[in-house]
Amino acid sequence: MPILRRLAPGVYAAVGDTGRGSEGRPNAGFVVTDSGVVVIDAMASPRQAEQLVQAIRSVTPRPIKWLILTHHHPDHHFGAIVFRRLGAKVIAHPDRRVLASEGGEDALMANWVRVVGLDAMRGFEFADVPDRPVTGADTLRLGGRSLVITHPGAAHSAGDLLIWLPRERVLFAGDVLIEDGVTMVVDGSSGSLLRTLATIDGLSPRRVVPGHGAIPARPAALVARTREYITGLRAAMRSAVEQGTPMGRAMASLPPADETRPVSLNSRRRRNAVRVYLEEERAYMGLDSVP
Ligand SMILES: [Zn+2]
Repeated sequence: MPILRRLAPGVYAAVGDTGRGSEGRPNAGFVVTDSGVVVIDAMASPRQAEQLVQAIRSVTPRPIKWLILTHHHPDHHFGAIVFRRLGAKVIAHPDRRVLASEGGEDALMANWVRVVGLDAMRGFEFADVPDRPVTGADTLRLGGRSLVITHPGAAHSAGDLLIWLPRERVLFAGDVLIEDGVTMVVDGSSGSLLRTLATIDGLSPRRVVPGHGAIPARPAALVARTREYITGLRAAMRSAVEQGTPMGRAMASLPPADETRPVSLNSRRRRNAVRVYLEEERAYMGLDSVP
């Protein structure tokens, strides 16, 4: 069962992993209102979602009314069907495209079975098409609570959403923030990520829930660490492009990717470097601008 952290009265983070950090299981959360429960993210499989439901039931018997997805990566929505079967409606960005699903949904699912095991996937169905799509900003009001849901741009993925509780000053950031600061931008872009980090700074959250790993003691420090990483990577790749260094050589200083671990720290650093090199190259050639 995920470990629950109470962030404010009725506001909980379900921390899926604190040991293996970003490569481990995803985080989720939920908000208990007078009229029912709002769940944020559905975990990586129906089994994990059922464990999340158990954790919710340890706090409240109220019905689960809404599931909000921070984005469409499998580790955050493959448990969604469990909440739908309990009667919840789904709020998400309608753009469900991710690199991992380029081979089609069947291939995506087959890959995922290898990650979480066939047993954990029992009862699986895709359930991330939103009943209530959000492409700009929307406020969910339920039982005296307000959740402000915004699409900050394609930072970590095309369908990113931030979930902000203004009164409690709690932000559910999805994978825009992860424990070690090395957020993946291969499904988004480094420029959008930097703008999203500025948006988060502007909110000045008291607590943030990252997509993976521990809840940081100081939200601003995790935002700063993420910004420092991505700014440094952009500068390094920009100077490589300007000096005509081929991508392979520009990447030589990075440790090799872990072949069987596509989201290990080394793999993320390497995949981000490829992505950012290409962004900088396009900008250098005047194909588009890096803001
Ligand atoms: Zn993700």
